[in-house]
Amino acid sequence: MQTFLDANRKRKILAVDDEIINREILGAILSESYEMVFASDGSEAMEILSNPEADFSLVLLDLMMPVMDGFEVIRRMKADERLRKFPIIVMTADKSAEVKSLHMGAADFITKPYDLPEVILARCRCVIELSEDRSIIRSTERDPLTNLYSKEFFFVYIRRTLLHLNREMDALVLNFNRFNMTNELLGREEGDRILKKTAELIDKVILRSRGIACRTDGDVFYVYCERGRDYEECVDEIQNALFRETQARSLSLRAGLYELSSDDSVPETWFDRAKAACDRIRDRFDTCVGCYSEEMHKRSIFQERLISDVDEAIERRQLTVYYQPKYNIQQNEPVLASAEALVRWNHPQLGFISPAEFIPLFENNGLIRKIDRFVWREAAAEIRRVKDTYGVDIPISVNVSRVDIFDPEVELVFLRLVREFDLQPHQLMPEITESAYADNGDRLIEVVERLRQEGFRVEMDDFGSGYSSLNMLTALPIDVLKLDMKFVRNMLVDDKSLRLVELVMDIARFLGVSVVAEGVEEERQLRLLKDMGCDITQGYYFSPPLCADEFDKLIRRSL
Ligand code: C2E
Ligand code: CA
Ligand code: CA
Repeated sequence: MQTFLDANRKRKILAVDDEIINREILGAILSESYEMVFASDGSEAMEILSNPEADFSLVLLDLMMPVMDGFEVIRRMKADERLRKFPIIVMTADKSAEVKSLHMGAADFITKPYDLPEVILARCRCVIELSEDRSIIRSTERDPLTNLYSKEFFFVYIRRTLLHLNREMDALVLNFNRFNMTNELLGREEGDRILKKTAELIDKVILRSRGIACRTDGDVFYVYCERGRDYEECVDEIQNALFRETQARSLSLRAGLYELSSDDSVPETWFDRAKAACDRIRDRFDTCVGCYSEEMHKRSIFQERLISDVDEAIERRQLTVYYQPKYNIQQNEPVLASAEALVRWNHPQLGFISPAEFIPLFENNGLIRKIDRFVWREAAAEIRRVKDTYGVDIPISVNVSRVDIFDPEVELVFLRLVREFDLQPHQLMPEITESAYADNGDRLIEVVERLRQEGFRVEMDDFGSGYSSLNMLTALPIDVLKLDMKFVRNMLVDDKSLRLVELVMDIARFLGVSVVAEGVEEERQLRLLKDMGCDITQGYYFSPPLCADEFDKLIRRSL
């Protein structure tokens, strides 16, 4: 960040060291760029600083000195409103003192015997710049609730200072299970108190002056600390203390650990990994600490690869669209009624990759929008092609991810496609997954209403898979309910599933919408569904998803 540094003003540095040779070395290195003032021990330094006119851009502080040592100087400066803002760099030969002094509020350190003059100069300049920037960003340095560092500053501190440490360090992410519930049950105030208490406990139990911590989103804490503690024990201890001292009863704390190795250099990545390890044990009861593993590492490399290859995959048609037919079963013979477009990825090096593998990944980073637009376009072109070739209308449904719903242009994209390929809107059917309602119900209602006004028929995909509520059904004006596959799978296995399917049929009749059952694999399922009044089925019993060529043959056969 460009600062308000006044280039003409020579900034003042106070250098405190009891050894005259050290003062001379510092003078030689720094006095060309800075105005130097020297003190030979802590009490002399405090005397100079106590002058209300004293204005230093930096204090260079030896830790081991007679009369008053450096720690005491730091303590006194931090306790004084005026002196608190002078940044301090400690100078020490004793490695173990670094973290303690940083923890007490020093901004950086210089090791003795002295580093290269350039290094010393650069560190001084860095710290002065940072502190002068700080007037702009001071308000974000600390999290006001817990007084831990803010996330931004946490990473700034790691980069500027702790990164140079020659120690074995760990990145730890702590997160609660069901913190939202706690907020709702106990109220925000108690929720805040629990977070505050947690921050104190992290400091007392884990950090112990050997690292730093911050709070990120809500109930997530990042801890950067020296290796050597048993984190299972730490988490237990924190949890027990919370149990004793707050009303948190059903709350459980879990941690993810990433152990740094010497070639790790991007702090954000360490914590992404620790977070991934933490998320992985979300539903485990046998452990409260997850470690980032080799397997997770391979997986994230695989995912990075997919992300970087997706554009090329679209361009080179390694992503293709398959079509799975849907049959109307209410006639004597099943009749081909429509199809669902499903994306496939045939990667030149990685081979066939299942959408179950890459769709969730791309939903997380928004790339799904690109893929979906590609698939919708292919589907629209296919509808046109079939019409031109055979003179028949085979409507095709396309999956609309919950992420697409947030796209303010999503309705327009559909409209442009039907215009471009000269289709009737009802031929291109959006399938919207039920879970989109949980993300943003209002926006979903808006999108669905707008699409239907334009003549599109909207299917609700995966109905019953999790979030369905009767409330949603009455609020959301859909045309087709697509029963989640697991009901069809279980309807022959247990009675409850069978009853649920019957219930969905009743609801559909009541709402005047038709029902598609997917995942139909057996004749018996088909019979039952037909008897219950289900209109349309899709599944391996009729056909798996087919490439465009095979789909073409199927249409020809069915004519
Ligand atoms: P979905 O939308 O529920 O799609 C149905 C999935 O069930 C498809 O898996 C299909 O191949 C599979 N399936 C069809 N019939 C049967 C059957 O009889 N038995 C069984 N066990 N499975 C059957 P697929 O193609 O692997 O897709 C998985 C999911 O990925 C889809 O679930 C959908 O949520 C998502 N997806 C696929 N293509 C796209 C796309 O283009 N865009 C978006 N946003 N999501 C897509
Ligand atoms: Ca679907
Ligand atoms: Ca589905």
